Amino acid sequence: MIKEYTNGEITIVWQPEKCAHSGICAKTLPDVYKPQERPWIRADKATTAELKHQIGLCPSGALSWRDNTHK
Ligand code: SF4
Repeated sequence: MIKEYTNGEITIVWQPEKCAHSGICAKTLPDVYKPQERPWIRADKATTAELKHQIGLCPSGALSWRDNTHK
């Protein structure tokens, strides 16, 4: 099961079976990643650059993103 969350410019793709639940995402961008809430990722709460940087820090590869601006 893959979950997707978009801010319009990019789509964050989360693969729960890969997630190590390390919490690094929530520590880095606490306004975006809220594990206790649904939806747990609020892609509109940070800039696209901040989201891309954070996704690069995910240790398990559970998070990735795709660009929505290139049609
Ligand atoms: S940083 Fe990646 S592995 Fe860690 S909780 Fe977030 S999505 Fe899961």
